[in-house]
Amino acid sequence: MQNLLYKSAIFNWLVSIPEQKLRFELVDALYGTPKSIFAATIAALSVVGIIFAMSDDAVFAWIFCAFLITGIGRTLAITLYRRSHHDIDDKAATALWERRALIGAWSFAGLVGFTGAYGVLAHPNGNIELLINCCVMGYIAGISSRNASRPIISIGQVSLTAFPFMIALWMRADLVHVVLAIFIGVLFLSIIVICRAVFDNIVSRHSAFRRIESIARRDALTDLWNRTALFEILENRLSDVPDSGDTVALILIDLDRFKDINDTFGHQTGDAVLKEVGERLRSVARPGDEVARVGGDEFVVVVVGKDAEQSRITAERVFAALANPFQVGINQHFCGASIGYAIAPRQGATLEALFRNADLALYEAKQAGRGQIVCHTFAISERYDRRVQLEHDLQFALQNGEMSLVYQPIVDPRSGRAICCEALLRWNHPRLGAISPIEFIPLAETTGLIVSIGSWVLHTACTEANQWPTDISVAVNLSALQFRRTTDLVSIVVDTLASTGLPARRLVLEITESILIEDSSAARAILERLRDHGVGISLDDFGTGFASLAYLNDFPFSKIKIDRKFSQAIDTSPRTAAIIGGIAKTTRDLHIELIAEGVETENQLERMFRFGIYAMQGFLFCRPLPADEVRKMIGGPIMSVVGRRTADQARMAADRRRKAAS
Ligand code: C2E
Ligand code: CA
Ligand code: CA
Repeated sequence: MQNLLYKSAIFNWLVSIPEQKLRFELVDALYGTPKSIFAATIAALSVVGIIFAMSDDAVFAWIFCAFLITGIGRTLAITLYRRSHHDIDDKAATALWERRALIGAWSFAGLVGFTGAYGVLAHPNGNIELLINCCVMGYIAGISSRNASRPIISIGQVSLTAFPFMIALWMRADLVHVVLAIFIGVLFLSIIVICRAVFDNIVSRHSAFRRIESIARRDALTDLWNRTALFEILENRLSDVPDSGDTVALILIDLDRFKDINDTFGHQTGDAVLKEVGERLRSVARPGDEVARVGGDEFVVVVVGKDAEQSRITAERVFAALANPFQVGINQHFCGASIGYAIAPRQGATLEALFRNADLALYEAKQAGRGQIVCHTFAISERYDRRVQLEHDLQFALQNGEMSLVYQPIVDPRSGRAICCEALLRWNHPRLGAISPIEFIPLAETTGLIVSIGSWVLHTACTEANQWPTDISVAVNLSALQFRRTTDLVSIVVDTLASTGLPARRLVLEITESILIEDSSAARAILERLRDHGVGISLDDFGTGFASLAYLNDFPFSKIKIDRKFSQAIDTSPRTAAIIGGIAKTTRDLHIELIAEGVETENQLERMFRFGIYAMQGFLFCRPLPADEVRKMIGGPIMSVVGRRTADQARMAADRRRKAAS
């Protein structure tokens, strides 16, 4: 029984198939040294050729041909293998090449065995037998080490050579040959032991290597690939591939609310969420896809396939998988993800380009408000290139004199005269022409340039306003970053007023509510100091975003500007009209001046007027104009004729209503 077990253990070992990666490497080793196969073939041909010349036996001529065909076949197989570049994960291809190696090796070994047996029986007791004995035994001893990586091949080879030879020697039935036959039997057994030892050694080295590799290449928390491993895998996948029409897609995943979860519920909860994200990505990935964690809450899925559509589907499945809540203990957490991906033909794709494009797509997804999937397009790259170009050129725009200010009057429709002018920044790019502040102000903010540009705007606007009639003030826009970055905004403002000579009451600073949201107590302190110096504070873009009526109570605003989109909706939306009416009443009670921005039509003017809004800005009155033009017209009436007529009519209607009421 034990014998049987042992036998079956040997059998299992012989035919055992190691795990794919090891099997691939072992098979790869079989095709690794063509020189030894070439040398063995040449040696066999020489020996058989010599024997044929010595014996004149036609059988050896046939054996010679058989060796030649086998040698050519095996050399050809090596050449084809080297060109095949099959994937390490391709089990079928690995098995096929292993079979081919086995057929080649067994054919050669069988031929050696046959040659030995035939030679010993057909040409006894001479030089031919001596030659054959030496060569066959040398072959048996030597071959065990070459193919030890696949025992089934090497043991098969030794058996195919040794058994026919042993039988032939035994059949000679004299003492010397029987001893030789026994010797070869012992040699056979010891070769099995050697094969086993070599094979075990290879396997244990391999598993140790895999363990070390797993520590170095796996993310400890999720057991996904880490960044280093991912780069290596991608490099292998992309380098030197034949044109198969395959595409490769890189899907970048950034968790949207992971930081909040981590900060609020602690690292253990954060880790549990990340683990679960890893599991979900693994379950979405198909065989052959690679999943990696490349940063705190950043993951990557690589899809290689025939079909770009498959990548889109995978990106959507990833998105859907991460949209579901994460259960940690008794709590459910909604995390969500932003996804950017790029697809490229596998042949010719570079790692840098793929990552860059997927990164740009992810950036767009985040810019678009997160929770989006964006596929990289040429237009995205173009936008990025333009952004980089503008960011670079912006550094020199001020010193090159490319920046200027235009001024848009804020008009009192009752008098038709300007009461204030808003300074608006313009950038005339030497190559790209006029760039909108909507485009370049955010760039100036991200680069921090807004601080120096903002100081220049303040200084230029105050200098200019000094040329206007003394009852007209100037409004300057402040960005959130100027609030945060400038160590002492108040002293900059006070110094600018002092150096330009503009009275503080003629300066209005326009801010948006983003300043108030970020650090409201610091913002209130700064605004109060500015107010104490006599500077007016205006809340810009009111009616959009999160602006709330509570701000009016909490911060020292002297003016509020109703956002352009909101003012324009007064035409079409009765609800908006009602809200504006309400704001007008509230601000009047609080003695805060209300300004309607973006007034473009007479209808808007009339409705605003009826609500008692007597400060308006918009194309109906005047577009933003260069300083010299504003200087010429600022003393006189600003409103266009149409505007003035409407204002007159509105005033008369209001008067009539007042009289009727009293
Ligand atoms: P904003 O502060 O809301 O400025 C008003 C914008 O509305 C200006 O656009 C102005 O030209 C436009 N506008 C005025 N009346 C009308 C109208 O009747 N119809 C329409 N459709 N538009 C009208 P502009 O000059 O392109 O400025 C855009 C934004 O850029 C400004 O919005 C402001 O947020 C920012 N910005 C401009 N100059 C500066 C600056 O010196 N510093 C800072 N931080 N931001 C600035
Ligand atoms: Ca403004
Ligand atoms: Ca505005």
